[in-house]
Amino acid sequence: MDICLLGTGGMLPLKNRFLTSCYIEHEGKGVLIDCGEGTQVAAAKAQIKISRICAILLTHTHADHITGLPGLLLSIANTERTEALEIYAPKSAIGVIEALLKITGKLPYRIEIKTLETREMTTLRLDCVDPMMELRALPMKHSTVCLGYSLTLYHKRVFLPEKADELGVPLRERKTLHNGGSIIVDGKTITPDMVTDEPRAPQRISYVTDTLPISGIAEFAKGSELFICEGMYGDTEKKKSMNEKGHMLMQDACELAKRAGAKELWLTHYSPAEPEPQIYKQELKKIFPRVKVSKDGQKTVI
Ligand SMILES: [Zn+2]
Ligand SMILES: [Zn+2]
Repeated sequence: MDICLLGTGGMLPLKNRFLTSCYIEHEGKGVLIDCGEGTQVAAAKAQIKISRICAILLTHTHADHITGLPGLLLSIANTERTEALEIYAPKSAIGVIEALLKITGKLPYRIEIKTLETREMTTLRLDCVDPMMELRALPMKHSTVCLGYSLTLYHKRVFLPEKADELGVPLRERKTLHNGGSIIVDGKTITPDMVTDEPRAPQRISYVTDTLPISGIAEFAKGSELFICEGMYGDTEKKKSMNEKGHMLMQDACELAKRAGAKELWLTHYSPAEPEPQIYKQELKKIFPRVKVSKDGQKTVI
């Protein structure tokens, strides 16, 4: 999966900082998480092909996460896209999304809104990207209904004809193994795992923003190669006022990443009052050494 953090800002876009939004691409199919004001400009700057987006996941209806939707959809319309685009969001966001869709006018492609449960975790297959891609959405604790998202790509084991040859599997019996069934050759049972490659660990990326550092997040992000989490402030004196607004500190995000055993943590959603989040880097590394105080347009491949 190719990942690009399009923006790292919270609340308001700044001259040199777009609003938090993340683009994930797998075999030419894109997923966008959050869409604040100017997201299509951030995508253009990062050389992301927005025509590839087939699913948009919205965490909640605060302006810094959703008001970029009409502009992005209109920009996608200019790419001559005709395939349907899915929008995933908390159930309660439907009214806001429909209102935003009213101002886009008629689009040359269909929009399919998929609402998600907000009382417990939802797990579903993101078929529009890959049937092996799982989407999980966990309710957060913010000043409004908000969901954290996690994408997991499972790998299908590859059939190895040379192994089947070695075991003397007749050609007509291979379909059964392909479909997960076992066969008997010369009195010996051959199971599908005997003729496929080694199982590969699934790849997971988790994105959590606009929430108190609730304990469920560590479990939710477990096994993440990349955990992207809000770090509104690095100034620990802001902790009380942050928590009252349903946000967390960079230090809280590091603690969660440590508990989740994440491979890497990218901070995002900085307050406009934190013009230089990099100044906290050394202090944060003491809590979680594999933390990146992210910058707009940061990319990686997992
Ligand atoms: Zn926000
Ligand atoms: Zn918010």
